[in-house]
Amino acid sequence: MARHHPDLIFCRKQPGIAIGRLCEKCDGKCVICDSLVRPKKLVRICDECNYGSYQGRCIICGGKGVSDAYYCEECTMQQKDRDGCPKIVNLGQARIDLFYERKKYGLNNG
Ligand SMILES: [Zn+2]
Ligand SMILES: [Zn+2]
Ligand SMILES: [Zn+2]
Repeated sequence: MARHHPDLIFCRKQPGIAIGRLCEKCDGKCVICDSLVRPKKLVRICDECNYGSYQGRCIICGGKGVSDAYYCEECTMQQKDRDGCPKIVNLGQARIDLFYERKKYGLNNG
């Protein structure tokens, strides 16, 4: 299980229309606090987190997405759903490097 860790960094960009997804392992978890109870609000992620091969990926661990991601009731109440795109961006440095590679070569301009 990918347990949330203080080092984890959320993307926080302006969410678009894309719905966050979770893999089999992370299914049912709140994307912010890992709670498994009271899923409340559907998660929306930013366009960049749904770009190309990221599309349909688990926003917690990057695995194959099988279900929609939700914020739990508590995080919704604390308005953590308004903090922006909740995808974890520093899971593996390699993925971030890849992202910047793309930017550098101008392939990320949609
Ligand atoms: Zn939560
Ligand atoms: Zn994002
Ligand atoms: Zn996952």
